[in-house]
Amino acid sequence: MSLELLVLPGDGIGPEIASATRRVLEAADRRYGLGLSFETKAIGFESLEREGTTLPGPVLERARAVDGVVLGPVSTADYPPREEGGINPSAALRIGLDLYANIRPSHTFPGVPAPVGTMDLVIVRENTEGFYADRTMHAGTGEFMPTADLALAVRKISAHGSERVARMAGRLAMARRRKVTVVHKANVLKLSDGLFLSCAERVLAREFPEIVVDDEHVDAMASLLVRTPERFDVVVTTNMFGDILSNLAAELAGGLGLAASLNLGDHHIVAQAAHGSAPDIAREDRANPTSLVLSGAMLLKHLGERRNEDRLVLAAAAIERAMPEQLVEIAGRTVDLGGPLGTATFTDALCARLAGQELAA
Ligand code: NAD
Repeated sequence: MSLELLVLPGDGIGPEIASATRRVLEAADRRYGLGLSFETKAIGFESLEREGTTLPGPVLERARAVDGVVLGPVSTADYPPREEGGINPSAALRIGLDLYANIRPSHTFPGVPAPVGTMDLVIVRENTEGFYADRTMHAGTGEFMPTADLALAVRKISAHGSERVARMAGRLAMARRRKVTVVHKANVLKLSDGLFLSCAERVLAREFPEIVVDDEHVDAMASLLVRTPERFDVVVTTNMFGDILSNLAAELAGGLGLAASLNLGDHHIVAQAAHGSAPDIAREDRANPTSLVLSGAMLLKHLGERRNEDRLVLAAAAIERAMPEQLVEIAGRTVDLGGPLGTATFTDALCARLAGQELAA
C-alpha cells in the first residue's frame, strides 16, 4: 500500500498545525504500516511573495494528482484582490477538485467543558453552490450592483448538487445511527430550498429506505441545536446554512479548535481545520492542532473505506481514540483549553500515545 499526501501549510498558525498533523500521521504510519509519503508545497502569503499568487497553478495540479490533501488555514481576509494574486485556496480547491460535500462532525469530548451535555452529530454541508458569489458562476460572480446603492446576490441550488450531497449524507448515516435531518428554509425560499428539500427527500427515500428522515427550518434548527443536540445524527443542508450551523455546533461541542472538517468529492479529498489562520497567535507555539489532526484522521478513514484498506481505517480509529485520552485531563491540553502544553509538546504527547497504544486487531 502507498499513499501520496500533499501538505499545504497555509498562513498564520497553518504551518504549526500542518506540521503537527503530519507528525501524527507519520506516527500512525509507523504503527500501522500505511506507506504514506508527504510532499509540502507553499500556498498563501509564502507563494504570493515568491510566485505572485496565493495558489500557484502547479499546486492545484498536484492536488488533483495525489491521493489526499492536508490544507492548513489561510488568511484570506488579508489577501490582495484576485488580479493581484489573492486567490482563496480553500474555495479554489473545493471548486477545482469538485469537493461537493463538507463533512463537519461535532461531538463532545469527555472532561472538556462544553455548553451542552453530550452531542454527537455530523453536519454535511453542500460545498459548491449556495450564496458563495465568488465561486458559483461559470463566468462572472453571483453578486452584482445594478446601481451604486443597490447590491444583489444570486443563490445557486441545483437538483444535481442537492441529490449528490444528500447521497453523501445517506452513506454517512448508514454507518451511524441511521437518521438524517434535512435543514432548509423552504417556507420562504420556496423554489430554491423547495428544490433542495424535495431532491434530498427523494434520494434518501429511494436509496436509503432504512434511514429515518426528517426536516427542520434553519432558524428552528439553530434553537434545537442548543436545546436538544442529542436529537440529531446526520444533518444535511445548503452551503451557507451549513457554514453557520457547523460553527454553532462546534462551539457547543467544546470549541472550533476541536472540530474536524473534510472536503469530499467522488475523486478527491481535502482535510481542513474548521477554524481560521489565527494570526494573533501565529509562531507562538500556542495553536491547538486538534482540528486539523482529527481532519487528517477522517481523511485516512475515508480513503480506507473507499479502497477497502483496513489498516487506514484502523489508523484513523487509533488517532480518534488517542485524542480524547489526551484531552481528558487539563494537563494534556493546549493553552486555549486551559492546559499548559504548546503545539509541539501536545503533538509529542499525542504521538507517544499512538506509539504506545495496543494495536487494534
Ligand atoms: P480564526 O478562527 O482564525 O480565529 C478566531 C479566534 O480563535 C482567535 O482568537 C484565534 O486565536 C483563535 N483560534 C483559532 N484557531 C485556533 C487554534 N487552532 N488554537 C488556538 N486558538 C485558535 O478566525 P478569524 O480571526 O475570524 O480569521 C483569521 C483569518 O483566517 C482571516 O484571514 C480569515 O479570512 C481566515 N479564515 C480562514 C479559514 C480557512 O482557511 N478555512 C476559515 C475561517 C477564517
